[in-house]
Amino acid sequence: AIPEASVIWLDGTLVPWREARVHVLTHGLHYGTGVLEGTRVFATADGPAVFRLAEHLRRLARSAHMVRIPLPYSAGELAEATLDLLRTTDQQACYVRHFAFLGYGAMGLDMRSSPTVVSIASWEWPDHPADGDGIRLMTSSWRRNDPNSVPPAAKATGPYLNSALARREATDAGYDEALLLAPDGSVSECSAENVFAVRDGVLRTPPPGSGALEGITQDTVLTLARDLGVEVRVERLLRSDLYAADEVFVSGTAAGVVPVRSLDGRELPAARGELTGKLAELYRAVVSGEEPRYRHWLTPV
Ligand code: PMP
Repeated sequence: AIPEASVIWLDGTLVPWREARVHVLTHGLHYGTGVLEGTRVFATADGPAVFRLAEHLRRLARSAHMVRIPLPYSAGELAEATLDLLRTTDQQACYVRHFAFLGYGAMGLDMRSSPTVVSIASWEWPDHPADGDGIRLMTSSWRRNDPNSVPPAAKATGPYLNSALARREATDAGYDEALLLAPDGSVSECSAENVFAVRDGVLRTPPPGSGALEGITQDTVLTLARDLGVEVRVERLLRSDLYAADEVFVSGTAAGVVPVRSLDGRELPAARGELTGKLAELYRAVVSGEEPRYRHWLTPV
């Protein structure tokens, strides 16, 4: 639900939700010149806590650097601003959207004539709805952005047209989510999640070279799996590697760790498989502050 009564951090001040507006000739609206982050705040026994805030802000800075959007705030300033906002809105579990884009300046592609606008908004987001049976994936007819067209490692707004088209195609066809292949035909990722395959107890996920975003949940899952003693391989995967997997799951800040029930109509033998279930449960415990070993990933609000 859109919290109309709430506030949004906009270039250094908290403004009423409805007043966080931009001009129609905003550069970022026309040309997709923006970078963004999606971060979660989870309810823990000690109150709300932000999950891996530093890593999200570091990726925001990396994205901005890659697509040449000057960020007028340091990571420390953005972290402080985030906590200020969260203390004001008093949400227990929420999604936080950091956003930096080229604003209203002059018309035309030249990026140097428009100032950067930065906003931070948050809205209630309940902890982990149960994704019981898993999702149905469809291999998209759209290829993931070519690294020499736009840098897929940047979480930038323009490239999300690729994700939006793939998601729309998949949901129009009655599936839950799209699986995108890289220009070379190998597996990249989903429209807003990284993808994993488990076979014979080995956990595999495509590398950044596949055009997949360096997911923070992906990194979390890989760390948890290694710590559980699972053999982990970050390597090029083919679509057939997913068809032949024992378990497939996806990971993302918004989605969490979600089992895949089928890919292109091929049922996975063990939907909600053993390792998927174990990692999903551990992830839930970690973000909820129930695992002391990973408490350093949580910033109390
Ligand atoms: N890939 C894409 C294209 C995404 O938009 C997201 C969501 N940020 C992810 C992967 C997952 O990344 P993270 O785990 O950092 O949310």
